Amino acid sequence: MTQSIDRVDHVIPKEEAVFSFGPEMKPVLEVDPGAVVTFETHDCFSGQIQTEHDLVTDIDFSKVNPATGPVAVRGAEPGDSLIVEILDIRPGPQGVATIIPGYGQLIDIVESPVTKVLPVRDGIVHFNDEIRFPMRPMVGVVGVATGGEEITNAMPGQHGGNLDDHLHGIGTKIYFPVRQRGAMFGVGDMHASMGDGEICGTGIEIAGEVTVRFDLLKGKQGAWPVSETAEAWIAHGTATEFPDAMREAFREAAYLLAGEWGLDLEDAFILLSIRADVGVAQACKPSPFATIARVVMPKLDAIPGPFRI
Ligand code: CA
Ligand code: CA
Repeated sequence: MTQSIDRVDHVIPKEEAVFSFGPEMKPVLEVDPGAVVTFETHDCFSGQIQTEHDLVTDIDFSKVNPATGPVAVRGAEPGDSLIVEILDIRPGPQGVATIIPGYGQLIDIVESPVTKVLPVRDGIVHFNDEIRFPMRPMVGVVGVATGGEEITNAMPGQHGGNLDDHLHGIGTKIYFPVRQRGAMFGVGDMHASMGDGEICGTGIEIAGEVTVRFDLLKGKQGAWPVSETAEAWIAHGTATEFPDAMREAFREAAYLLAGEWGLDLEDAFILLSIRADVGVAQACKPSPFATIARVVMPKLDAIPGPFRI
C-alpha cells in the first residue's frame, strides 16, 4: 500500500545518476535526517530498449543500472546505520524484460536474444491479451558508499548495490551500514515485478519515481544491509554461488541476534533453524553475476526488529 506522504522536500532528476558505488562519492544533494526525497529513476537500460526490436545485444552496457543520487545525509558517520524507508514506488506506463544470450536457468531451451514489452496500467501488468496481474513494485539497486572498493551497480555487496530483493517494496525500511560520512545513498533498477531468482536476468525493467524518508540509527550497523517489513526483518548475504550466499545471510542474522538481542550463537543457530525462512533473492545462473540470499526472521515480541531502537 502506498503510505501517506504529507510532504516531499526534494526531487532528484534521473539524469543525476551513478553507475557504481565507491568510497569517494560527490553528493548531488545533502539533507537532514527526516527528509523526504523523491528520486526519478531510469530503467536499468537507461531507456535504450523501448520496443521488441531493441535487443539487449545492441545496447551500450556502460549505461546499464544507473542509480539516481547520491544523497548525503547530515550526521551519518561510519559505524551508524542509514535508515531508508520506502514510502512509495511509482512505475511508469511501460517496462521491458529480456532474454540475454548465455544467461539463466532456461537459456538452453529458448531462443535469444528476446525483448518483451510489458505495459503497466493502473497497477496491472499486461503480459499478453489474457495474462495480467497486479504489479509488485520494488527497487533492485539500493546502496551507499563503500568502505574502499569501487563496485559497479551490476553487483551487490555489503554496501547494497544490485540487491534485487522483491521485499524492497513500499513500506520496507532498509538499514545500510554507513561507511563514509553522509552515507551517500542512491537508488535505481526499478521493477514493476520481479520473481525470486529473477531467472532470465531481468524483472519488468521500468522507469519511475521512488520516494523515501531518511533517518539515522547512531552507533549500530550490520555487516550487510538489513531490511524490515511490518512482519519480519531480513538479513542478506551475497556470493558467487548460492550456498555461500545463504551461509553469509544466516551468519549475519545470527550475529544480529547474538549482538543485539543477547542470544548466544548456539541459541541463535537453533532459533534461525526452527523459525526463520531462507529465500533466494537473486540467482540467475549461468551468468557472471552474484547470487543473493535472504533470511526472513519473523518479528517476535522479544525480537521486534533487527536492532534495538
Ligand atoms: Ca538488478
Ligand atoms: Ca533489473
